[in-house]
Amino acid sequence: SSVSSEGTKRVLLASPRGYCAGVDRAVLAVEKALEVHGAPVYVRKEIVHNRHVVTSLEARGAIFVNETDDVPEGAIVVFSAHGVSPAVVAAADRRQLKTIDATCPLVTKVHKEAVRFASSDYDILLIGHTGHEEVEGTAGEAPEHIQIVNSPDDVENVVVRDPDKVVWISQTTLSVDETMETVRRLREKFPTLQNPPSDDICYATQNRQVAVKKIAPQADLVIVVGSQNSSNSVRLVEVALEYGAKASHRIDFAAEIDEAWLEGVTTVGVTSGASVPEILVQDVLAWLAERGYGDTEEVVTAKEDLLFSLPKEIRRDMKAAE
Ligand code: SF4
Repeated sequence: SSVSSEGTKRVLLASPRGYCAGVDRAVLAVEKALEVHGAPVYVRKEIVHNRHVVTSLEARGAIFVNETDDVPEGAIVVFSAHGVSPAVVAAADRRQLKTIDATCPLVTKVHKEAVRFASSDYDILLIGHTGHEEVEGTAGEAPEHIQIVNSPDDVENVVVRDPDKVVWISQTTLSVDETMETVRRLREKFPTLQNPPSDDICYATQNRQVAVKKIAPQADLVIVVGSQNSSNSVRLVEVALEYGAKASHRIDFAAEIDEAWLEGVTTVGVTSGASVPEILVQDVLAWLAERGYGDTEEVVTAKEDLLFSLPKEIRRDMKAAE
């Protein structure tokens, strides 16, 4: 037999990956609402940014709408994990909707920071992506006090009233490195810039980036499972490339993998965003195994055991239904 010039084909599987506590809770909230109240249950925006999750819940009777005005008066509506602005809560109240708030507690924490700094009349610089639902919700807590800073290069456009009364906060699902660069430039401009009381980029985002940084330097290809509108998933591709992966692609489903990506590839890294069910990762591993990449090593950089209790409205409804 001939000796292969290539090394042994293998997969490095990042851990932690996939579901975070906030996503787990939000998806479970919709499932429980369907169980307790029966279909349909309305959900404002995608409950989490994952196509598989959304279509699975749709099949069980969830109806996803863009705004509360699309929900029949008096019906049940779930707010997504990304959070909502006070204006959305008020609009739901006007239609007398029964709301279940599945906002991740770690997003709510950032909302509270925004409210607190706004009440002390700070200029608040919200580092995040314009148009992302979480950013719209957080900015909506104090629109007069908050401006969005999209990137390090955006810093030059920032104008504040009092350069000595400025604080930054952030979206929960950003690149840690890029955010620190934005903060560095902001501090050059505003030396007394205040930090938020604790990390706004959440533990899950941070842990998934640390894990992909560990595998990326050894990987010829890093496959990130996650949807195109999932901020933390898209960041994982960027981080993989920055940390030495020769190539990296994001996919929703194993069937989207292009065989051509495997040309000359010995080591494939695999990870998934915080909104991605593990079954989709297992599908990718099976797809790779069929093509000779059956040797999988899990690279563990942290253990996660955080769990959030269900939204209080759904706990109440479950209790009443007993
Ligand atoms: Fe919460 Fe972080 Fe998960 Fe978003 S990614 S739902 S902030 S734990």
